[in-house]
Amino acid sequence: MAYQTVNPYTNEIEHTYADTTPEEVEKALSLAHGLYLKWHDGSGLEERKAVITKLGTLLRERRTEMAELMTRDMGKLIGEVDLCASFCDYYVEHANEFLAPKPIYTTSGNAFILKQSLGVLMAVEPWNFPFYQIARVFIPNFIVGNPMLLKDAANCPTSAQAFADMVAEASAPEGSLTNLFVSYDQVSEIIADPRVAGACLTGSERGGRSVATEAAKSLKKSTLELGGNDAFVVLEDADMDKLAEILPQTRLYNAGQVCTSSKRYIVPEKLVPQFVNILKDGFSKVKMGDPLDRSTTLAPLSSKKAKEKLTQQVQLAIDNGAKLEYGFEPVEDQEGQFFMPTILTGVTVENPIFDQEMFGPVAVIYPYKTEEEAIEIANNSSYGLGNTVFGTNIAHDREVASKIEAGMSWINAGWASLPEIPFGGVKHSGYGRELSEIGFTEFVNQHLIYEVEPTA
Ligand code: NAP
Repeated sequence: MAYQTVNPYTNEIEHTYADTTPEEVEKALSLAHGLYLKWHDGSGLEERKAVITKLGTLLRERRTEMAELMTRDMGKLIGEVDLCASFCDYYVEHANEFLAPKPIYTTSGNAFILKQSLGVLMAVEPWNFPFYQIARVFIPNFIVGNPMLLKDAANCPTSAQAFADMVAEASAPEGSLTNLFVSYDQVSEIIADPRVAGACLTGSERGGRSVATEAAKSLKKSTLELGGNDAFVVLEDADMDKLAEILPQTRLYNAGQVCTSSKRYIVPEKLVPQFVNILKDGFSKVKMGDPLDRSTTLAPLSSKKAKEKLTQQVQLAIDNGAKLEYGFEPVEDQEGQFFMPTILTGVTVENPIFDQEMFGPVAVIYPYKTEEEAIEIANNSSYGLGNTVFGTNIAHDREVASKIEAGMSWINAGWASLPEIPFGGVKHSGYGRELSEIGFTEFVNQHLIYEVEPTA
C-alpha cells in the first residue's frame, strides 16, 4: 500500500513511506494495551492533561510549519492548526468536570456512575483536514485514557506522522498514539484483536461500512462520521445581501471538500435567478494558485483521483439532464488539480447524481414552491449530516430546521466546528458524535457503582 505525499499543486511525489510491519503493529498494540491497564481505574489524568497542554503549546508554536505540511500533502489553504490547539484548551479545562462521578438518585441505596476509559481504539481518518480529524478523536480519548492506533489516509502520511511525533514530543508515553502505514486488511486484524475495544472512522460510506462490520463481528463499539449532501434552505424572507456575504464560502471552503459543505441549495422558485447570480459572482472571483500563497482563495483538489471522480460526477449529472449554469471548464493555466467552481440546476430525482455527494466546488440548486416542498427536498437524501436554514424570523427558522433529518442545523450561518459543539450525523452520514461532552463520552465506560450499607 503506497503511503505517499503527492503535492496536488505541483504533482510531485515529495515523500514515500514504508509500510508498517506486523511486528510494529504488535508493538503498538502491546504498548497501547499496557497504558490502558494503567489508566482504566482513572489514574494518570493530571499527567495526561499536562501532555495535552504541551501539545497545544507546540501546535501554536509551529502553526505555520505544520500548516505547510498539510498543504503539501493534500493542497489545502494554510490554516487549521489553531483550531486543533483550541481542542487542547477545551478538554484540559473540562476534563475533571466530564470525568467526575455522576450520582444517580435512587430510593433503594446509593448509586453513581464512574467514567472510565474503555480501552485501545483504532481510528481511521481522512485527508480533508489532516490535523483536525486526528485531533478531534485523539485529544478527548487521550484525556479519557483510551490509547489510540491511527490509520490515516494514504495521501496525507506526512501530516499524520508529524501529528503523532508532536504528541510524543509533548511527553505522551509511548503507545498513546501510534501512527501506522497499514493496509485495510491490517486495520481489520487490529480491530479484531482482543486488546482493542472500539473503532472510529471519518470517511466515506464504503470505508465506514467496512470498519463498522469488522467492529460488529467482534462485538465492539464503533462511531462513524461519514459523508453528507447538506441542504441549504433559503426561506422566502431571506436577506439576500446578507446571504451574498456568506454564500460562496459555504460551498468553496477547503475547495468544497468538506463533509458539511452546503451541497444542495433549496431556493424559492422566484428567487432562483437572483440566487444563481449571487453564486456566480462569488464563484467567478476566486483566485486559484499556489495554496501556500496567502492571496490564493481556491486551492486545488486533494489528488488527481479526486478531480477525475468529480469530473465524472458532473458529466453524469449533465448527461442525465442537469443544466450547467456556470463553470466546469478546464483550468488550463494551472498544473495542479484545480476544479473550476460549477453551478448546476435541473437535477431531477431520477438523475443518478441526485443522491450522491460531490466532494468539490459544485453547487446544485433546487427550486421550490412551498416550504413543505423545500423540507421534502432537504429530507430526500440518504445522508443526514448538517443543513442550513436562512431566513429573518429566527423562531420560524428553528421550526424549519427541526423538520429536517440531520445531526446538525445552522441558522443564518455557514457550518462551524468548535470544541464545545457536537459534530455528527444521522442516516448514512453515520452515528455517534465527536467533540463536546457528547463526543468525549462515546468511548467512556459508564461504570455503575451501586451500594448498600453493610449490615452490622
Ligand atoms: P475514505 O475513502 O473512506 O477514506 C477515509 C479513511 O478511511 C482513509 O484513511 C482510508 O484509507 C480509510 N479506508 C477506506 N476504506 C477502508 C477500509 N475498507 N478499511 C480500512 N480503512 C479504510 O473517504 P474519502 O473519500 O477519502 O474521504 C472523504 C469522505 O469523508 C467524504 O465522504 C466526506 O464527506 C467524509 N467526511 C466526513 C466527515 C464527518 O465528520 N462526517 C468529515 C470529513 C470527511 P486510504 O486513504 O488508504 O484509502
